[in-house]
Amino acid sequence: MRKKIVAGNWKMNKTYDEGLELAREVNEYLRYKEGAEGVTVILGTPFIHLAKVAHNITEANLSVAAQDCSAEKGGAYTGEISAAMIASTGAKHVIIGHSERRAYHGETNALLAGKVNRALENDLGIIFCAGEVLAEREAGNHFEVVERQLAEGVFHVTAAGFSRVVIAYEPVWAIGTGKTATPDQAQEMHAFIRSVVAKQYGDVAAADTTILYGGSCSPANAGELFSRPDVDGGLIGGASLKAADFFEIIKARAKR
Ligand code: PEP
Repeated sequence: MRKKIVAGNWKMNKTYDEGLELAREVNEYLRYKEGAEGVTVILGTPFIHLAKVAHNITEANLSVAAQDCSAEKGGAYTGEISAAMIASTGAKHVIIGHSERRAYHGETNALLAGKVNRALENDLGIIFCAGEVLAEREAGNHFEVVERQLAEGVFHVTAAGFSRVVIAYEPVWAIGTGKTATPDQAQEMHAFIRSVVAKQYGDVAAADTTILYGGSCSPANAGELFSRPDVDGGLIGGASLKAADFFEIIKARAKR
């Protein structure tokens, strides 16, 4: 089912205690403050926080995601974390294909397809990231790039598998730069993504697919972005590191 989702991606931020405190604050906001009705909130924490945060949170609309998983099932892969290990912490989702992993860890669409398989085998929901770099947008290739990332990274799964996938459109030129895509640019790409999902899985599945926008989303611009019909929510980096800012974005999603 298509949902209103606001997911935080803490990236490589927060020590163990700081992370537990941030998760506690978000949980308290959702518990005691008005304004988050109908929004599903996900915390994409570092691996070290997953088990404890999953254990501590109390709110039904709050859950935890890992930021990556291995494409391997297990074994001699020093430093890697498997999807089975993530699921065993109580985390419910995993972010796959973030542009920072593609850029700094050489993650290819083929590798990401393997990660998607491992996540589904372990009953994890997937937030699958796709997005173009600035040169690709300037050359007018952004639709083609995003379609290929989806086709090669995630469209191999069955319709049942795809129902566990949320897509995050994250233009790389907007991530951490303070340069947000305009609401029109986001809507245009989200509508395009929905059309390629429809080609692959049919109109009903496309209408049910949740598509998030990510890239310098903040309390100041979230409302406008979420007002667009194909923007179902956000994947939030920097602004998810302060509970008050994150909650403002959640409220902006609830209002629309
Ligand atoms: C992200 O990393 O997923 C992201 C959207 O980052 P930021 O909000 O900081 O641009």
